[in-house]
Amino acid sequence: MNKQSETLERTVVLVSLQLTKTKIKVLSYIYQVYGRILIEALERMWSNSISSWTRAKKLLYKRFREKYPDLPSHYIHEAIRDASQRLKSFKKLKKKGLAKTDKPVVKKWSVGCDNQLWKLTLEGVRIATRKGWINIPLQFHKLFWRYYNGGWILRSSTRWKLVENKLYLYVVFTREVEVIRTSNSSKVYGIDINENNVTIYCYPENKAATIVTNFSKIVLGYAYRRARIQRKWSRVFGVKDNRRLKIALMKLRERNVKKGIKQKLARIVIDIVKDGVVVLEKLPKRFQDKVIEKNRKLNGLDAHRLKQSSIRGIHKLIIEKLEGYVIPFILINPSYTSSTCPICSSKLILMKGYAQRNGWKPRLMKCPRCGFIHDRDIIGAINLVGKYILDVSPMPLGRRVPMTPVWSGL
Ligand SMILES: [Zn+2]
Repeated sequence: MNKQSETLERTVVLVSLQLTKTKIKVLSYIYQVYGRILIEALERMWSNSISSWTRAKKLLYKRFREKYPDLPSHYIHEAIRDASQRLKSFKKLKKKGLAKTDKPVVKKWSVGCDNQLWKLTLEGVRIATRKGWINIPLQFHKLFWRYYNGGWILRSSTRWKLVENKLYLYVVFTREVEVIRTSNSSKVYGIDINENNVTIYCYPENKAATIVTNFSKIVLGYAYRRARIQRKWSRVFGVKDNRRLKIALMKLRERNVKKGIKQKLARIVIDIVKDGVVVLEKLPKRFQDKVIEKNRKLNGLDAHRLKQSSIRGIHKLIIEKLEGYVIPFILINPSYTSSTCPICSSKLILMKGYAQRNGWKPRLMKCPRCGFIHDRDIIGAINLVGKYILDVSPMPLGRRVPMTPVWSGL
């Protein structure tokens, strides 16, 4: 086992309340001057072929200091750093032939602040200006507190810009995560997510596991109960502003229960796949609408069930967890994965009658050419792995050498 740590990064935007004219004036002065320094620094660095921050500061700092004596000096450092970073990424793009202009151009910018230029307070943020520190009240939100109290570390630098009469503050949270990865692991896990189960197939061990969630039943059950409660409480008082109805619905704890199941499911999945590369299907945008379109015959409640069916939610949660634990994963187009024979690539047919078990009803598929029979969801998971190994993996099928994980996420 090989332990490593990696840093995760999340940017959170905090928006201020409407600012007073005086504050806007002071801030937009900084914004404008910062932009001017950035543009000029970039031009000079470009013509002198300098891209290092330290060398650029030696060359340019004094000049800007004299030109803008009332600007807190750290903004000059930050603007030059900004220029240096832009120059470096421009050079990279150019090397790849992706640069759209022949020299770097500044179109948009936000003001970079190091730890000397900003401080978070209980009400908002304090920003250093030529008139001293000014207080900017911010609207803190749930997401911010979740990171702030959830073991993430607030980065000491930040960026801000003005949008209309408000300040947008971009704070960054980081977190070190320990990555446990078997150094020579060549395991590949295919994950097939359905309404009622999540199926995982492991290559090369050739094992599969199905985690039954029966999510559609839960969703449907809640839909019925919700409808009953609504009927009961709205008969006399109507639906609008009906406090008793609201309370009765709250007592259902529908969201919490569903969320709890999904969290638990994602934890189980991560526990299984943590020592390999994970292959998931790429969900199309507006995926659930498409499913409903295909099933136009369904009645209202069934459509509701599909809409609520949390395939997308589970998919998203698993990906978040994979990112959190820094497990390499890849998204693959799932077309034909549940209808193609993994042995001979023929089109599979659905088995009928007694071949289908009862209970949560696995849907067995059979290959008319080679006789291969298996559960539809497991076939889906196997074929996802197959697609990855044949199309994407740098490792030829069957060779057990460590592969470079195809890296998504970070
Ligand atoms: Zn076959």
